[in-house]
Amino acid sequence: MPVGTLANIKTVTPAQLKMTGAEMVLANTYHLHLQPGEDIVAEAGGLHRFMAWDGPILTDSGGFQVFSLSQIRTITETGVTFQSPRDGRMIQLTPETSIQIQNRLGADVIMAFDECLPYPSAYEVTAAATHRTHRWLQRCVEANQRPDQALFGIVQGGIYLDLRQQAAAALSEFNLPGYAIGGVSVGEPPDLIAKIVQVTTPLLPADKPRYLMGVGTYREMAQAIAAGIDLFDCVIPTRLARHGSALVAGERWNLKNARFRRDHAALDDACPCYTCRYFSRAYLCHLIHAQELLAFTLLSIHNITELVRFTQRIRESILANTFVADFAAWLRSEPTAQ
Ligand SMILES: [Zn+2]
Repeated sequence: MPVGTLANIKTVTPAQLKMTGAEMVLANTYHLHLQPGEDIVAEAGGLHRFMAWDGPILTDSGGFQVFSLSQIRTITETGVTFQSPRDGRMIQLTPETSIQIQNRLGADVIMAFDECLPYPSAYEVTAAATHRTHRWLQRCVEANQRPDQALFGIVQGGIYLDLRQQAAAALSEFNLPGYAIGGVSVGEPPDLIAKIVQVTTPLLPADKPRYLMGVGTYREMAQAIAAGIDLFDCVIPTRLARHGSALVAGERWNLKNARFRRDHAALDDACPCYTCRYFSRAYLCHLIHAQELLAFTLLSIHNITELVRFTQRIRESILANTFVADFAAWLRSEPTAQ
């Protein structure tokens, strides 16, 4: 899922997004609550109509953003109180209010409100947050007024595998339509993320979607899929685009680089996307140097297409029973820098 924080995939129209092959997008409850507010979205007829995206949408619960973005916050059993970075007013987000906001936004998949900890966090602190997340899940389930929205629970537990195992077991009891692994990619080393995913994923019901939150490099996706993950969200393709970078054949290219100034080849001649069909590396290099906004759009279209195609190739190889051989290079751990 490409990330559309404020109900848009930055610089890409829904029609352009459709052409990338992306089927589902993510929007952020925290950001949409702060602006424009769920009332305006509900008034418009819900997120699909408001942002003109007729495909599936998932909203996260706001938990991650409250914990990572807000400066002043108080956590109690009730919920989290924090200061709005927009206008300084105090806002309380609880399991009930998070679900209420998501019910009003109207996405297809909504996420339980969870307590996210930074890395590193002590074992006792992590255990307390994990258990609170389970009590909050119960309240989310009770608060959900819309059975047409699929409520996913989130496994927390930090880097502690026993807590992750307990969390996966506790969540599975809820018989939810889907499950997520959260609290990864918060600064811990990649090997640790891989380990958490390897241990946790098989403990979640295999007949339900299993979603790894906030992860999306080639290697992370291949390894997570090997563990049983079905769904990802990541800002990488659009964020890289805004930094003038393209994902080409598993590498990151900085199109600002002088070596592209006279390179009139297609960005990636193996890629069928709109950008690669019509535009050269030299042109993209020029747009970036001239600070033209079209550069962001063209690079986002390519980067999203590239990662969607990567997952499509994995799907095909799983069906052909050749996944482990075809993606061996991505399934190994990151080579250590020399
Ligand atoms: Zn392309």
